[in-house]
Amino acid sequence: MGQMIRTANEIEEGFHNPLEQIAVQEYRLRKWLKQKRYSTNDRTLREKVIHEAQLLSKLEKIANKYEKTSLNTRQWNKLTEKLIEAHTEQKIDILNKYGIHREQLLKGMFCYACKLPPMVRIHGGWKCTQCGEMSPDAHMAAFKDYYLLHGNMVRNREAREFLNVTYLIS
Ligand SMILES: [Zn+2]
Repeated sequence: MGQMIRTANEIEEGFHNPLEQIAVQEYRLRKWLKQKRYSTNDRTLREKVIHEAQLLSKLEKIANKYEKTSLNTRQWNKLTEKLIEAHTEQKIDILNKYGIHREQLLKGMFCYACKLPPMVRIHGGWKCTQCGEMSPDAHMAAFKDYYLLHGNMVRNREAREFLNVTYLIS
């Protein structure tokens, strides 16, 4: 199983094989469940991947087979809570982790075209001072960077400093 190719409108796109992705996700979930001392049943992918035409009959078969679950409602709720808790993104202070001070960050909006800052506000959009490229939403990428670096709370003054602008549009 390697890469999959989808051809649509004479355009070919490469994707990771979805079966491999499922296998990786399954492996990680089984490993996690075993760490939490839940039992798992090993089955091959062929038993799990079916054509859509067979889906309804397969669902009925499964429903009949598993009328009784191995966990009661309370145990399912507990497992659900654990899964959600484990699935929550870890909060990492990325600047601290790599020993970077805020003052060392390059500020301003970076141009999509030439990848350099700064872009300046002009005619309702942003213009690159390096190559002249215009962007209506360069600030969105900068806010995303800010979020990844500092978290989701942003004060107006900090945002202006990070974006390297003297005022903020609303
Ligand atoms: Zn540019």
